Amino acid sequence: MKSAGKKPKTTSVAAAPRSDCPPDVEELGRSTWTLLHSMAATYPANAPPETQSVMQQFLSTFSKLYPCWVCAEDFRSWLAQPGNEPKVKGQDELGMWMCQAHNAVNVKLGKSEFDCTLWKQRWKDGWKDGRCD
Ligand SMILES: Cc1cc2nc3c(=O)[nH]c(=O)nc-3n(C[C@H](O)[C@H](O)[C@H](O)COP(=O)(O)OP(=O)(O)OC[C@H]3O[C@@H](n4cnc5c(N)ncnc54)[C@H](O)[C@@H]3O)c2cc1C
Repeated sequence: MKSAGKKPKTTSVAAAPRSDCPPDVEELGRSTWTLLHSMAATYPANAPPETQSVMQQFLSTFSKLYPCWVCAEDFRSWLAQPGNEPKVKGQDELGMWMCQAHNAVNVKLGKSEFDCTLWKQRWKDGWKDGRCD
């Protein structure tokens, strides 16, 4: 998306992405998944009804305002499918649901699926081999 309409580069060395330019779809996606999985990782183990309601509203609003309109439209279609509604009772089920939502996008983009049994190591506790300590 970012490169559309721009002149092709003439050097053979790819330029490093600049950190002070508008994000493309990939960078936006990586940052957003970091936010979404981190929200799941800090969600209460047993969320009170009001928190569940706020999370439901957040995800509904997010799916309407995510600033990649095609991505948002597909995400809303996925959410509307039976069984895909957000699971917001507590951290474990929200984290697993978020992983499944992310995997649906991974599959759509032809990427490998992430092993959702590992979501907590990736986004909350760090890997068991200690490399995040
Ligand atoms: C709601 C949403 C919809 C999107 N739709 C589109 C789209 O239609 N078209 C498009 O081109 N891009 C879309 N994106 C962006 C896309 O998902 C990626 O973020 C982007 O392609 C960059 O991918 P990446 O390979 O760097 O890693 P990302 O997919 O961004 O993942 C970041 C990191 O999360 C971890 N991870 C990967 N999968 C999972 C998982 N299932 N559960 C937990 N952790 C995981 C891995 O460690 C990975 O390195 C969407 C993003 C969001 C948030």
